[in-house]
Amino acid sequence: MKALTLSAEWAPKAGYDMTARERELRRPRNGNMVWKRPSIELGEAPDPSLKPDQVMLAIAAVGICGTDMHMYETGKDDYMMYPGLVCAPNILGHEFAGRVIEVGADVKDLSVGDLVAVEEIQWCGECSACRRGFVNHCLDIEEIGITINGAMAEYLAARARYCWKLDEIAERYGEEEALVMGAMVEPTGVSYQGLFNRLSNWKPGNNVVIFGAGPIGLAAQALIIAAGAAQVIVFDPSASRREFAEKMGASAALDPSGIDLNDAIMAHTFGRGVDYVVECAGVADKTIEPLDRCLAVNASIIDIGMGETPPTLPIVAYKRMGVQMAGALGHAGGPFQQVIRMMAAGRIDMRQMVSDRLPLDDALAAFKRLESREDAKIILQPNLN
Ligand SMILES: [Zn+2]
Ligand SMILES: [Zn+2]
Repeated sequence: MKALTLSAEWAPKAGYDMTARERELRRPRNGNMVWKRPSIELGEAPDPSLKPDQVMLAIAAVGICGTDMHMYETGKDDYMMYPGLVCAPNILGHEFAGRVIEVGADVKDLSVGDLVAVEEIQWCGECSACRRGFVNHCLDIEEIGITINGAMAEYLAARARYCWKLDEIAERYGEEEALVMGAMVEPTGVSYQGLFNRLSNWKPGNNVVIFGAGPIGLAAQALIIAAGAAQVIVFDPSASRREFAEKMGASAALDPSGIDLNDAIMAHTFGRGVDYVVECAGVADKTIEPLDRCLAVNASIIDIGMGETPPTLPIVAYKRMGVQMAGALGHAGGPFQQVIRMMAAGRIDMRQMVSDRLPLDDALAAFKRLESREDAKIILQPNLN
């Protein structure tokens, strides 16, 4: 089958403290410390084989994510940008939907023809994190398209327990559109997890600030508007991304460059301050760190964006205002169901941030195009006919 594969040179940086297991499995916790000169190539890969607890999917739609970009882009030292767990060579693609074309012998709830979105995080269900319900923090994790083969390919075998049916979306929008929307369930679930699961104090009528109008920020915006936000103020230096934010209903979309964030936020909340701050830009030192005067009493701060520079936080202001802060990483099973329902009910439509749908043959050009970060989401369609 045709597939887009990430390759890189194994070259651990001097002083990187690796466990024997990381070395043995060539599975570093911090890809940016080990993988040098990453590259992507579109070529032939072996067809996947089906295990009894899996379904075979013909991949219909797969999004290119910031994570994919960071696995392929390098810093000044030629090392991969992505700081997380990553294996190479590996087929990319973790935000996807497909049609079931074959069902393993032990699968009970799926049939040939079903349309599904699939969890990226292959949680084990047995470690202490999983058993306490925090499956996205699984201690024995695999990740589709990051540590094991992904969906930028014609076919993928996925365990049935990570699949979520898209039938209710198809009922409203038809199958082809349901599959495109299905590819956006995973990134939207990342935002859902941060907004509503890490903290349990969301209130309709909150004034919201979102940093970053990339796909995760725009998904956060769509969800929070559907959940009854009052003012939604979005910051992003990219003019085209601010346009996406405005088109999708932001009260204001502002360029953060050279302005006083506290003043801007106070001005846009009628002097009341912000109740919910959502970091989706990965630069908490530039976004969360400066916020002190603009925080309302009982404000919440949710840090979703992946960044490497640790912020210095104004915790005195947090104490004075009764602020709570949470970090959120990836998604757990639950958000998939909730996001699918919100899409099926027409409450959110993430197709608004899709700037293009392209065949898998155009994948390399699509990655190049995304380097400028002008587009929000590009969807590849490996089995479009
Ligand atoms: Zn992603
Ligand atoms: Zn686990």
